[in-house]
Amino acid sequence: MRLADIPEVPRDEVFALTADFKADDHPNKVSLGAGVYRDENSQPWVLPSVKAAREALNKNRDWNHEYLPIHGLDDFLDVARDLILGREDTSQSPVVSIQTISGTGANHLGAAFLAQRLKPRHVFISSPTWGNHHLIWEFAAPDVVQKTYPYYHAPTRSLDFEGMMSTLEAEAVEDDVVILHACAHNPTGIDPTREQWEALAELFKRKKLFAFFDSAYQGFATGDVDADAWAVRHFRHVLFPRDSTAEGPQGLCIAQSFSKNFGLYGERVGALHLVLAPGTPEPGPRTQLLRLVRGEISNPPTFGGRIVQTILSDPRLRAMWDRDLQTMSSRIKRMRSLLRQEIEKHPGVGDWSHLESEIGMFTFTGLSPAHVLRLRKVHHIYLMMSGRASISGLNEKNVTYVADAIFEVIK
Ligand code: PLP
Repeated sequence: MRLADIPEVPRDEVFALTADFKADDHPNKVSLGAGVYRDENSQPWVLPSVKAAREALNKNRDWNHEYLPIHGLDDFLDVARDLILGREDTSQSPVVSIQTISGTGANHLGAAFLAQRLKPRHVFISSPTWGNHHLIWEFAAPDVVQKTYPYYHAPTRSLDFEGMMSTLEAEAVEDDVVILHACAHNPTGIDPTREQWEALAELFKRKKLFAFFDSAYQGFATGDVDADAWAVRHFRHVLFPRDSTAEGPQGLCIAQSFSKNFGLYGERVGALHLVLAPGTPEPGPRTQLLRLVRGEISNPPTFGGRIVQTILSDPRLRAMWDRDLQTMSSRIKRMRSLLRQEIEKHPGVGDWSHLESEIGMFTFTGLSPAHVLRLRKVHHIYLMMSGRASISGLNEKNVTYVADAIFEVIK
């Protein structure tokens, strides 16, 4: 093919939105696009725990810039694994952990590995989902057929649990991969209840489905890292119980990102954890993963991993980080209720309680593409065409402006 004939790719929606927002010089402009935390002045926030860890690292005279091993920084991987899986004896179900280029890299590595070694017929992706899931599986696993499962029930603005269960029941076959958002589903902000997670885990066990958890918001949903890891840990306990020889899936995996919960977006810190069924020898999967990493990035970057490891292994910094999570998640919760309150002040707008019941960084507003375009053109408020709004772009100063603008476009 001639390079001159290559078709142009449309801009990625969320990055294009950010660029257009930056170029807009209207004084009241508001960005509700990118999934990044902003403080009450709409500024990026460096977590105090991260600042303290940076200072601690700078004091360390042994600091150098050597390559890490292919799998990454051991001390980082230990604390990263414990954060998501809890401090457990892993002897029953071995865990292989590999440091990755953030959550995106972990999704990619997991997809490439499973496509080559598990060879599932299908990968099931929630509808809707984080847009990159489709692209990552298209690139890393071109032979795996992508299917979607219903997730969002628009008329009731709630989880389409029936649709999700019945699709997986009818269409998924043994070893199929199902991507699940560990908490704070992007873009809907709606998670299954614990009872629903329990039913899903039973289904995965019976049908031997491979759960692929995408964990990008641990600590962001509730402010409590253990509560936000509940679904992952429950799946592990149910699918791979200690002392059980019952047949189940071959494993599960977790793509873990530290972008949001540590505010380390640009440092690209993440990990892939592959939990294997009890009795599975781990050298095969581990060395195949290392081979993939070697061919793709050779070895991961050091700085972000050292920050996360420093915080999670020092009780004082860990307590600071817990407070930082509370600061972020409680500000987001407060903005959710303020936005609801300010919208519902207007006559005839109906019920906006979903703004408060949804959790995490995003809300699915229910606004149509026409509403979204008008918000942008007339009011200089930027959100995704799907109606997804990133709540962290709101603050005490702009929330009434945004609520009034929403009223203006829907009335
Ligand atoms: N998964 C989900 C659901 C996300 O929303 C994101 C980021 O927005 C990611 C993964 C990966 O993010 P990163 O590569 O920055 O860690």
